Amino acid sequence: MERECINLYLKNVSVFNGHDEEVLPAQNILIEEGRFAKIGHTVPSSQNVHTLDMTGKFLMPGLIDAHFHAYASDLDFAKLDQLPQTYHALKGSELLSGALRRGFTTVRDVGGADYGLWQGLEDGLFTGPRLFYAGKALSQTGGHGDMRPPSLEPCACGSSGMLTKVVDGVDNIRAAAREELRRGASHIKVFVSGGISSPSDPIWSLQYSDPELEAVVDEVTRRGAYVVAHAYTPEAIARSVKAGIRSIEHANLITPEVAGEAQAAGAFVVPTLITYDSLGRYGHETGAPDTMIAKLDEVASKGLESIRICREAGVKIGFGTDLLGELHKFQRQEILLRSKVETPFQILNSATAVNAELMGLEREIGIIQEGTFADFLMLNTNPLQELSSLANGEAIEAVYQSGRRVG
Ligand SMILES: [Zn+2]
Repeated sequence: MERECINLYLKNVSVFNGHDEEVLPAQNILIEEGRFAKIGHTVPSSQNVHTLDMTGKFLMPGLIDAHFHAYASDLDFAKLDQLPQTYHALKGSELLSGALRRGFTTVRDVGGADYGLWQGLEDGLFTGPRLFYAGKALSQTGGHGDMRPPSLEPCACGSSGMLTKVVDGVDNIRAAAREELRRGASHIKVFVSGGISSPSDPIWSLQYSDPELEAVVDEVTRRGAYVVAHAYTPEAIARSVKAGIRSIEHANLITPEVAGEAQAAGAFVVPTLITYDSLGRYGHETGAPDTMIAKLDEVASKGLESIRICREAGVKIGFGTDLLGELHKFQRQEILLRSKVETPFQILNSATAVNAELMGLEREIGIIQEGTFADFLMLNTNPLQELSSLANGEAIEAVYQSGRRVG
């Protein structure tokens, strides 16, 4: 599909750039070849420009979801793994299109999405956010990515699912990381504590040995990529940080002491409150297995407190959702949940500039400045004042990606 580049001139718009705690009024913005070319009091230099009078409107960077699963089409992972790849591709494209319509112009998939989905987006087979993916998330045997029920006898047939791959040992985890990087992964995900969606590992379990974690960090860092750890407990978070892992997912049970260690190491924490909230409210009716609901309480109630602890320790906090199946529709509600402990600026900064920095893309996305991609939301209210109308979508008049209207 041919994608033509339209040069745009946005006249008299108020701008929250994603990075600074202010809204600059009366900005004129020139967008050329999909990027912000000039911002301020500029006037268009050529005739070949489409002008939009933006009086009364606000601009902010497109949202970034740093914890997404395009292939999580069902709440039950055992069921999910029975579905054929063709179904996952179709459903994944639908979930990605939905995210873009909600204003997420970039997602970081942390288990599942692959080269084929990315190529489909590149070829314009469907519309969706910019996609950065880990390929399959790596789990030890009996870890959070091992979806086999305890009743199952071991077999030599491997136990990779749609989102995860079971791999043990230093040499094997190196090879698995190399394999995902070869297939275009921008980051590698490992499970370092138990989680709620797997049947046989308690939340408190400490997964992968130190040498395995160090090996994966070494392997991935030499490739210029970074490691993402699923970790709930203080022990799991501390081990991840010590091994040099950059992105700590969930972190619900973090303590001030461990938050201090994360801050000192320059690690980021990515909370995902909406997945627990929506599972708690709608999990049963939307097909979550009982084992998942039973484990939920252990982590759900501590989510807000973990954000407060991280803010106090000065940890960089990203923005993610981790939604499954039908619950993807609640993606923007993460914004409102966090507003109980954070300011609108802190939340929207997390969902834009901080997430971009987490992904090493601060010169490309997440901030409205000269040179970055023109991925933005056109709003009818000030996002730093009217957070709820952004979260429920009423404020969003249009979604743009590379200067093209996509929603
Ligand atoms: Zn996840």
